[in-house]
Amino acid sequence: MNPNQFHPVFTIAALALMPTVGVSCARPAPPRTDFVMGTVCTINLGKKGTEKLYDEAFARLRVLDALLSANSETGNVAEINAGAGLKPVRAAEETLTVLSTALEFSEATNGAFDPTIGPLVKLWGIGLGSERVPPRGEIDQALALAGYRKVDVNRTAGTVYLPEPGMRLDLGAIAKGYAADEIARLLSSRGITSGIIDLGGNILAMGEKAPGKPWTVGIRDPQTSQGGAVMSLQVANRSVVTSGIYERFFEENGRHYHHILDPSTGFPAENELLSVTIISPQSIQADALSTSAFLLGTERGLELVSRYPDTEAVFVDRDLGVRTSEGLRGRVTALDPRFVLHDDD
Ligand code: FAD
Ligand code: MG
Repeated sequence: MNPNQFHPVFTIAALALMPTVGVSCARPAPPRTDFVMGTVCTINLGKKGTEKLYDEAFARLRVLDALLSANSETGNVAEINAGAGLKPVRAAEETLTVLSTALEFSEATNGAFDPTIGPLVKLWGIGLGSERVPPRGEIDQALALAGYRKVDVNRTAGTVYLPEPGMRLDLGAIAKGYAADEIARLLSSRGITSGIIDLGGNILAMGEKAPGKPWTVGIRDPQTSQGGAVMSLQVANRSVVTSGIYERFFEENGRHYHHILDPSTGFPAENELLSVTIISPQSIQADALSTSAFLLGTERGLELVSRYPDTEAVFVDRDLGVRTSEGLRGRVTALDPRFVLHDDD
């Protein structure tokens, strides 16, 4: 197994909720960690955590994993992919929501973000144990199958049709965000107002750490999949999601190939960036935007982020320069002097 699967993202919740034990209350259940959606997921509800709540949340995560995974042979996305060129396939409400949102980001990025990039993702095999630099001809074939405009979503019939055989959806850039929102909704409906949902570094900080006290979230060193926090910021009721080049990658002949693929070249997106972190009220938006902004680069990425209310971004470039969106100016703390904040640009 690729070791990156255990460290696929950079963002970490630096401070965890420490359960406190009341004199007369039952002892809270410890935070729960499990391997779901190809990554390590942790939910921490502090002193409100119960085994039942954690069971429920992870059961829902596993349902969403089965529905939305491009890697499984069964499940709803797999069924839609199997129906490519053959027939419209009934889509679950969850699939319709995630796919429709993904297609909105395809429009917003002029096709840089493209959930029909599945054949290319499969061809490169990055993080899936089959990584290699594919021959140009195979890249061209995979690219010919992609194209978000070809997807036929029929909301009335509740179906999705991929019109060409071999087409393949991959919702890996957005589905973890949706799943985090779903778990937050589930937990809210059970009366939970504070907690951390961490789906492989796709963080959703529910409420505040304690009344009047925000959460401190760290942004990990984007130069390595194992690094510690190099910056931190305080958030309440926000999702913090990072996309970058050291989440999933392989090296061949001294070259680094990462998993965010540029549909205009068929190769990993190459620009000045190491990573993009998005801070947003909605995790689905944060996930889609982190990948989208990474694909667009700093200038166009900042412009994209500015279109979304209450949404901020941190761009780290290959010289370890850090640019933030306007609303974050003065709110990011550098923990490592190698990272230089360009707050005045
Ligand atoms: P992000 O930046 O959010 O997304 C990058 C991912 O998006 C790529 O890995 C690729 O899948 C896709 N992508 C690449 N280029 C583009 C583009 N231009 N536009 C749109 N999307 C693009 N991993 C496993 O190893 N085994 C599993 O069984 C497995 N199951 C999963 C099930 C689900 C439901 C989900 C959501 C993910 C699963 N994964 C699995 C992980 C998945 O394959 C991706 O690696 C992961 O979602 C990437 O998320 P990220 O936050 O690291 O990067
Ligand atoms: Mg993403």
